[in-house]
Amino acid sequence: MKKPCEKPMKMLKLEALSRRLSPNHPKQKKITNDYRKIRTGFNGESSIGKELKELSKKYQVFHDLRLSRDESSFFQMDFLIVSTNCCIIIEVKNFAGLLYFDRTYPQLIRTKDGQEQAYLDPLIQVDVQKSRLINWLNFHKFPLLPIETLIANANSNTIIKTTPGHASIFKQITGKETLISKIQTLDKKYPSAQLTQRQRNKLSNTFLQKNTPHNPDILKWYQISETDLLKSVHCPECSILQMQRHWGKWTCAHCSYSSKDAHIQTLRDYALLIRPKITNKQARLFLQIESIDIMQRILSTMELPYTGQYKNREYNLDGLFHE
Ligand SMILES: [Zn+2]
Repeated sequence: MKKPCEKPMKMLKLEALSRRLSPNHPKQKKITNDYRKIRTGFNGESSIGKELKELSKKYQVFHDLRLSRDESSFFQMDFLIVSTNCCIIIEVKNFAGLLYFDRTYPQLIRTKDGQEQAYLDPLIQVDVQKSRLINWLNFHKFPLLPIETLIANANSNTIIKTTPGHASIFKQITGKETLISKIQTLDKKYPSAQLTQRQRNKLSNTFLQKNTPHNPDILKWYQISETDLLKSVHCPECSILQMQRHWGKWTCAHCSYSSKDAHIQTLRDYALLIRPKITNKQARLFLQIESIDIMQRILSTMELPYTGQYKNREYNLDGLFHE
């Protein structure tokens, strides 16, 4: 995969936020709900991503590209597959139950446990993504590749129906089981190469370069003050915030587990929630360490890049974002 499946920034931030707020914090419930939604979406994408690993090297796979022509109106694609002959946009869904693609009044009606619910038609959603991608390719002066679209449902417990006479839409809808063969069928529609190998590499590099992940300031988003965040180091074993540093290692006051590097997750939380840079003083406050020297030793063994001297030295925590 050119751009593998990784947890989105907002998901990492919500995980950090939830463990850094007390369980009875007034925003905790909303955060947990929002987190569950993102997690369900991500789990669906991961399971589709696993299938896509079966594709041959002929196809380049990008997970979660977020692009814009003008740095303001972004469009996001769950997966984009690029061969030298065409592009395929994949939108991942997680619907269980009976799905009815209504073509008289374009919408998706899902029936589950006797309840009907209407959704935005994903076929329209991918059409919008397609026209945005065409604009983007034009803007960056790439040859206009044919673009196909697919809806991939990650949930296997689904029955799909549509308005009589519209069975052709099933070419664009797939479950996990038929995903690879549908991709190959779509690709075969375009037997001649539209891009040279060199052009395709340039396109792939431009996708990666121009990708702008959604990265909200999560405290601002939920209107939570920095002072609400719980400080100190979580125990990797029992998750309780009671680790104490003695003789070069962390020991949990609750379960006695000990760890040499439990502080890494704490600094990652700091980077995700507050700022991706930290001074010795800020680190002492967040990790609840009194000694400047011990803090200095911890930060220098992590070999983080830094700028500035002495008290003003700031360590860069960017490298800690992904697990
Ligand atoms: Zn513990």
